[in-house]
Amino acid sequence: MTHAVIELRNVTKTYTMGEVTVHALRGIDLTIHRGGFVAIMGPSGSGKSTTMNMIGCLDRPSSGVYLLEGEDVTHMSKSELAGVRNRRLGFIFQGFHLLQRATALASVELPMLYAGVPDAERRERALQAMRLVGLAGREHHRPNQLSGGQQQRVAIARSLVNEPSLLLADEPTGNLDSRTSLEVMAILQRLHRERAITIVMVTHEPDIAAFAQRIIRFKDGVIVADESVAKPAQADLLLAREGGATA
Ligand code: ADP
Ligand code: MG
Repeated sequence: MTHAVIELRNVTKTYTMGEVTVHALRGIDLTIHRGGFVAIMGPSGSGKSTTMNMIGCLDRPSSGVYLLEGEDVTHMSKSELAGVRNRRLGFIFQGFHLLQRATALASVELPMLYAGVPDAERRERALQAMRLVGLAGREHHRPNQLSGGQQQRVAIARSLVNEPSLLLADEPTGNLDSRTSLEVMAILQRLHRERAITIVMVTHEPDIAAFAQRIIRFKDGVIVADESVAKPAQADLLLAREGGATA
């Protein structure tokens, strides 16, 4: 039996702050299949990050059900969720979230340290992931010795080392200039194409959403549109047209 990678059934999230109740999600139904590349869009406060936190097992629904690869994770404990995150999910954030004092190599190795991967294998897999994102030769650099695009590549390499079934990216190009954004999108599209990684990405930029196969729009805590993209833009072609090296 094949399962969707993500299945949210009537998921709600309510935050209570003193006397005020915020209905961040008002009943989300969402199915994402293996190998999908989905962009989530919508105005500020519409529930995008709340949904990503839910999908990423960083938070639990107030009601409804979340099946991750067919497994009900709705009522897992915090430590069970941490295990799911480490083994099955990769995260990329707008602000990169790298440890300032760690070398690129150490950052990429970290998820494998948590997963108990032996030293030699950890090193080998980290080096391989860094080559994959075009960071060979930058292993011993710290974040302040890397450009924004290179830091995001470190974060992408780190997100891949435990071979996640799902990659979650919250505004991955939000802090990058347009050329570097294209390079990052070329890497994500290549991972999607060559490794069949499922990607869910939040973005507020239509140009960036155009690289996905499907665009879901949120408003006021509900999904208001869900469209497939007939012909996703190709980041590597756009880069080649601009001239210079591709990712
Ligand atoms: P988006 O990412 O689309 O900008 P969010 O998912 O961050 O929106 O937020 C959705 C709504 O939930 C907003 O009204 C926001 O203020 C509220 N919200 C988000 N996180 C919290 C929290 N931890 N506590 C209280 N309210 C929150
Ligand atoms: Mg947000």
